[in-house]
Amino acid sequence: MANLFGYFSNDIGIDLGTANTLVYVKDKGIVLREPSVVALDTVTRKVRAVGDEAKRMLGRTPGNITAIRPMKDGVIADFDVTEAMLRYFIQKASQSFRAPPRVVIAIPSGITAVEKRAVMDSATHAGARKVITIPEPMAAAIGVGLPIDEPAANMIVDIGGGTTEIAIISLNGIVFSKSIRVAGDELDASIINYMKRAYNLLIGERTAEEIKIRIGSAFPLDEELSIEVKGRDSVAGLPKTIHITSQEVREALADTVAAIVDAVRTTLERCPPELSADLVDRGFVMAGGGSLIRGIDRLLSEKTGLPVTVADDPLSAVANGTGAVLNDLTWLMQNV
Ligand code: ADP
Ligand code: MG
Repeated sequence: MANLFGYFSNDIGIDLGTANTLVYVKDKGIVLREPSVVALDTVTRKVRAVGDEAKRMLGRTPGNITAIRPMKDGVIADFDVTEAMLRYFIQKASQSFRAPPRVVIAIPSGITAVEKRAVMDSATHAGARKVITIPEPMAAAIGVGLPIDEPAANMIVDIGGGTTEIAIISLNGIVFSKSIRVAGDELDASIINYMKRAYNLLIGERTAEEIKIRIGSAFPLDEELSIEVKGRDSVAGLPKTIHITSQEVREALADTVAAIVDAVRTTLERCPPELSADLVDRGFVMAGGGSLIRGIDRLLSEKTGLPVTVADDPLSAVANGTGAVLNDLTWLMQNV
């Protein structure tokens, strides 16, 4: 039997994402993957649902319930709600634990010191014995297997829901990072606007996301796609169905995609020359759900001249990174 502490303690890693929260339990892997959404009673502010159940309510709530995404723009919109959400996820993942867990949380690199403190306090209130934070791009880089301890440039581009995080890492440290509030949500918003402008069709966020996932692209497709979209006619006020093609959706997404490309190029411009030289051969790795937009890797490769690869399981990269450091918390405390 291991020592008392080691035997009874179970450490967990959390990817507190703007769209999805994942929990990794040491020696088990990812045990929970749910949307970062909380449904609240509008009068009492009591939590009615968290995660999957709350997301199903988005856009469909009666007046007395509101479904919110507390991390939406990569900042904490509401501390109490974030805390309630963390408590739900930590408790769900640590049900069978016999002692309160130590928790490693990956947080967006753009959040302020005050917000970081708030996340740590929330996790403590939610039942964590010890809380350690790790910048999200660092966790992503570890999760996709980049050799971040080498004296060479390791670059990661993580397109999430609320933010795109770009970082260049060398010798276990972030040399330069950039976080912009343009990512998957903004792509959805572009589709909503396009449908309104081109077809007088009003659609909700969930429908827009579905269109993006089913036929969205950033680069011309070998075989273009089309899809049927249902919504409400903004003039007649009645339900309506139309057909749209992947070319149209690409046009709708173009400005937002261009903003992401721009952020990547700006990061490269700020990179110290020796590290730039490394990137010519090593290129960068993409993670986050937004990296699954068809052809975004190809577009970025064309616009930067660098080799680009998408991680094998981009939605799990950050959680896997927190999982990897659970085995070496001493390393984490010394380096990050
Ligand atoms: P976060 O880390 O901010 O929680 P995620 O990495 O979980 O974000 O990614 C969520 C985003 O990825 C959402 O905007 C979602 O619509 C988008 N996404 C997920 N799957 C796909 C896909 N196959 N194609 C395009 N976008 C996707
Ligand atoms: Mg993320």
